[in-house]
Formats: sequence, structure tokens, C-alpha cells
Amino acid sequence: MHEMSLSQSMLEIIQEHAVADGFQSVKVVRLEIGALSCVEPEALGFCFDSVTRGTVAEGAALDIIRVPGHAWCWTCSRIVDIERHGDPCPGCCGHQMQTRTGNEMKIKELEVA
Ligand SMILES: [Zn+2]
Repeated sequence: MHEMSLSQSMLEIIQEHAVADGFQSVKVVRLEIGALSCVEPEALGFCFDSVTRGTVAEGAALDIIRVPGHAWCWTCSRIVDIERHGDPCPGCCGHQMQTRTGNEMKIKELEVA
């Protein structure tokens, strides 16, 4: 399951930070998720809860920020925002698009106690 491996890598990052910064528990994990990443926020929350049990991140809330994807439009010759794979260009409604970003997921901030 996609969300399960994401949760595990998030936990690894959080644990590295906990060691480096010396905090005992995490209250909020602020995440940026690309609109094209196919991450289901509900499934991610569920997996995150289960992998973090007994760790510094136990009980932490996920605050998910959706960031739009970016694609290059060959017709407009510029980068445009898209919400989903296969969306037409918002400028010219064309489909001559090449996805640039939007698949990424990263931890933006941790609120710790
Ligand atoms: Zn266009």
C-alpha cells in the first residue's frame, strides 16, 4: 500500500529530527502533498496512526496542504497549474502538456512538544 510506505518514511524523517533536535513528542505534522501524487489523505492518516504507535509521533495530527501540480504547455509555452493528470491547460484548454511537478510529498513543518 502506497500510503503505508509513505507513512513509514515520514516516521523515519520525524525520528531523525527528534534525535537531532531533542524533542519528545510531535503534535502536528504539516505536510505538503502534490495534487498529482495520488495520495489519499484519509488513508494516509490511518496508516500514519498505525505506524507511529509507540513512537515520538504517536497521536500527532496530520495537517495536509495540497499543492497544485505544474505542467509545461507546449501551446502556450509556459508552466501552468493543474489539479489532476490529464487535465487540460487552463490557458488554452489544450492537452499538449508535460507534467513537471505535483507528485512530491514533503514534511514542511513539525509542531513539537
Ligand atoms: Zn496552454
